[in-house]
Amino acid sequence: MKRSELFARDGNRCVYCGLVQEPDALSVDHVQPRMRGGDGSGGNLVTACRGCNTKKGGRSLATFLAAEPEARRNFFALARYVWPRHLRAVAEELARRGVVVAPTELVEGIRGLRSSEAIASVLQSQVRSTNSSESEGE
Ligand SMILES: [Zn+2]
Repeated sequence: MKRSELFARDGNRCVYCGLVQEPDALSVDHVQPRMRGGDGSGGNLVTACRGCNTKKGGRSLATFLAAEPEARRNFFALARYVWPRHLRAVAEELARRGVVVAPTELVEGIRGLRSSEAIASVLQSQVRSTNSSESEGE
């Protein structure tokens, strides 16, 4: 998928801060990094502003989302085109890190879901809005 197509699909909106920005200020972010086998298909790509992409740095998506409540909320509200398997992997990682309300129910609840939209909706309702587990560290 081309950059311009990706930005158009996402309405030039960053999935992490939720702000609509000029294409010049946007970047392509891989849900699963290329070095870990992630491809360039639409289901592995999201629009991220340069600021958020820099903030994310070399962290995995789950690590970044675990540390940033606002990015977490926005991501699950906006990342409706991400492949279900990537969303499940992120959900399981967040559940392990204790940043969802009911980890077991979350993982069980999304197991049978096929659409990204459905999985993202469950995640959206389950993620904590604050960093209550921050003290547990990495
Ligand atoms: Zn952003």
